[in-house]
Amino acid sequence: MQPVEPFADITQEAFHRYLNKTPHRLWFDDARYDLYKSWILDARRSEDHYRLSRNEEKTRSRVLQKFYLDEDERLCCRDDTGRELRVLRDWQLFNVASNTHRGIPHGGQEKTFNIIAEQYYGIIREEVRWLLKHCKVCISEVIDVPTIEDRNTNQIFL
Ligand SMILES: [Zn+2]
Repeated sequence: MQPVEPFADITQEAFHRYLNKTPHRLWFDDARYDLYKSWILDARRSEDHYRLSRNEEKTRSRVLQKFYLDEDERLCCRDDTGRELRVLRDWQLFNVASNTHRGIPHGGQEKTFNIIAEQYYGIIREEVRWLLKHCKVCISEVIDVPTIEDRNTNQIFL
């Protein structure tokens, strides 16, 4: 039997529409990702003669404290507990979330989110929740579980 493909292409497209509609503090599109990266690279070369507003300058110095580049020049960040996390761009969220979910195999939302949050920055709980609500494997299990027999069995213990 062919294993069920958990996410259809149409789900991936809908997920990206959902991401674009609900931006949040941790949201990284390419522009933000590349800006942070260029600030870090320029600071390394001591080229930081920017004409920034006071607010932009505040943001820049916060970014330089919290974010850094790994050996492959990927943007990473240190969270408040000192964990080192790789920053995800918005278009990477789908693959990371769906692969993590598949890898544990089809563990719940909390478990999936916690595993992602241990390694990555730029994704929030609601996004994982949205995606898993559309997982065909998980949906079919929910439908399969409450058979009449199960319900009768449960009643004995109520
Ligand atoms: Zn699933």
